[in-house]
Amino acid sequence: MRPQVLFSLFAPATKLPGVGPRIAQALARVAGERVVDLLWHLPNGVVDRRYAPSLADAAADRVATLTVTVEAHNPPPPGRGRIPYRITCTDGTGTLTLVFFHAQGDYLEKALPVGEQRVVSGRVEQYQGALQMTHPDHIVPVAEAESIMRVEPVYPLTAGLTPRTLGKAIQGALALAPDLDEWMDGPLKARHSWPDWRAALLAAHAPDGQGALLPTSPERMRLAYDELLASQLALLLVRARQRQMPGRITKGDGALRAKVLAALPFTLTASQSKAIVEIEADMAGESRMLRLLQGDVGSGKTLVALMAMLVAVEAGRQAAMMAPTEILARQHYATIKPLAEAAGLEVLLLTGRDKGKARAAALERLAAGQTALAVGTHALFQDDVAFKDLGLAVIDEQHRFGVHQRLTLAGKGRGTDILVTTATPIPRTLMLASYGDMDSSRLTEKPAGRLPIDTRVMPVERIDQVIEAVRRSMANGGKVYWVCPLVEDSEVSDLAAATERHRALTALLGDRVGLVHGRMKAKEKDAAMAAFAGDGSDLLVATTVIEVGVDVPAATVMVIEHAERFGLSQLHQLRGRIGRGSEKSTCLLLYAGPLGQTARARLEVMRETEDGFRIAEEDLRLRGGGELLGTRQSGLPEFRLADLAVHADLLAIARDDARLVLERDAELESDRGKALRTLLYLFERDAVIRYLRSG
Ligand code: ADP
Ligand code: MG
Repeated sequence: MRPQVLFSLFAPATKLPGVGPRIAQALARVAGERVVDLLWHLPNGVVDRRYAPSLADAAADRVATLTVTVEAHNPPPPGRGRIPYRITCTDGTGTLTLVFFHAQGDYLEKALPVGEQRVVSGRVEQYQGALQMTHPDHIVPVAEAESIMRVEPVYPLTAGLTPRTLGKAIQGALALAPDLDEWMDGPLKARHSWPDWRAALLAAHAPDGQGALLPTSPERMRLAYDELLASQLALLLVRARQRQMPGRITKGDGALRAKVLAALPFTLTASQSKAIVEIEADMAGESRMLRLLQGDVGSGKTLVALMAMLVAVEAGRQAAMMAPTEILARQHYATIKPLAEAAGLEVLLLTGRDKGKARAAALERLAAGQTALAVGTHALFQDDVAFKDLGLAVIDEQHRFGVHQRLTLAGKGRGTDILVTTATPIPRTLMLASYGDMDSSRLTEKPAGRLPIDTRVMPVERIDQVIEAVRRSMANGGKVYWVCPLVEDSEVSDLAAATERHRALTALLGDRVGLVHGRMKAKEKDAAMAAFAGDGSDLLVATTVIEVGVDVPAATVMVIEHAERFGLSQLHQLRGRIGRGSEKSTCLLLYAGPLGQTARARLEVMRETEDGFRIAEEDLRLRGGGELLGTRQSGLPEFRLADLAVHADLLAIARDDARLVLERDAELESDRGKALRTLLYLFERDAVIRYLRSG
């Protein structure tokens, strides 16, 4: 149960004064639906309103707060809506014109009555020799001058939200922030001179200048540390829990594996063999396996995973592989099925689409142990799915499943071993952040025979040449991916861009042009993919839905539009869709200039290397605050307050801290332990609390 002291923070934002359903929707887009989400929505700028000169002294082009008397209203002549509404003011030393476009006269008459004094704040401009202020940010009576004459935080906004409304909602949220018992290690806090949690939060929302916005300010460091500590503690608790669950010795005789290896038209790479040996040793041990298998797209993880599954089957148990999407589940199934058949094994596919009788029959086979190998989506770990004896669960985590699901699946068998696979090569720092101290195997080489991908970076002005190259490639029997830009914040405009590009390319290149996007129904998506993989289409216009693991070896060209908008890891994942066959592949990264320094560096890295581990390191290095487009897709952890490009050293401290805490107080029962439980709730890592004795 969430501690009572946090109740108000987890209430919906509509509980705040001034927040109705409409505003709540806008808030949800930019921050989240609950009060706590607003607390985490930190300012990214400041406006200093303390400059309060007389009109005679007021400098143009800077923000000022001015005390003036309203002299006259000059509304635009009727029917001339383009002409602004002007209000003349004075302070005895000079005049100021307030300018309003599309103004509502009655509102202005109320806010700025003739003859009265008001304080206005905004940017002062010089226009035709006179001072003016267009749309002041604040208009208040003199008595309230204090409230606006300060350094004001500026927050990231979204459509439908004004700075005032958002600011008010955040102030409302802050008013609900309780004092919480300290969970932080005393000496650590003292060493960094970090404030208490609530003080840090208030300070982070009241920056006194640009410096306070830096991720290295004491208040932001403290908040980032809290978040990292919560996540490290949660990971360690999961790990501890995992260790408590008794494992089993799983040893196979190699018979099934030998059959599959004999059926392969190629030999394993050295890193595949090494990974298999590592996994085999883990499974043969008494404790429960929890191992990560990392490798670039196309490095052959599926095969390694299959070998691990066969070990379980050789030992007389079942094995399941869970994929994050329907498309991927089907693809893994298609890969595994013929190989399993070579070993005389049946594979069962279970996804959310299986319903009714078919599903019931599948569940029966799993429960009776008639099927040894299962592949599927989340559908595999729903409550009514039971295995006779699940020895190994493989979790393909190209997108994150989260620790909770991981344990749920593991709970389906006694001492079930777990192998997590990810196509995101993870830098060491992030490895710790995402997975704690999980064991890991890395596939570092591409299967033999793969040709390097020729990657070129070019301005979008050369799109005609690109289309010609695509035409030639199609004429030679090649298949082409055309990836459309990611438009931040809006799936709808993603879609519009892709649809429009599809229309234009069809007009130019003929009707063998397919389209796949995230708004399609699963069936339509699969059909479009299948057409491209088969003989239905030669060019596939796509939004980033193709990112996840789809395999069409005949695809040899990829065009990525607005490549500068993608994150490095995402570009890498996308590019991994080509270069999978025996033909040489080309990747064309089109950008719209002018390029920022980071975007340029990113594209340069893409041109230089295909090494996913290097790309991941560069990605982390190049990530400036706020540049994180596509974190979700990359499978890396999402933090609200911590920025791993800056706070990596805090992460290491948090890990050691969490470890020490659990060594001394494994059940979190001391005073600090209790405070740490609250921390876990605060950052919503509380799924692990039930693993504590008195959870
Ligand atoms: P990943 O899951 O890591 O993206 P896959 O396991 O899907 O990669 O493998 C990609 C392709 O490479 C598949 O067609 C697979 O059959 C093939 N492959 C796997 N291992 C090897 C190997 N050692 N040599 C040649 N091809 C391989
Ligand atoms: Mg695969």
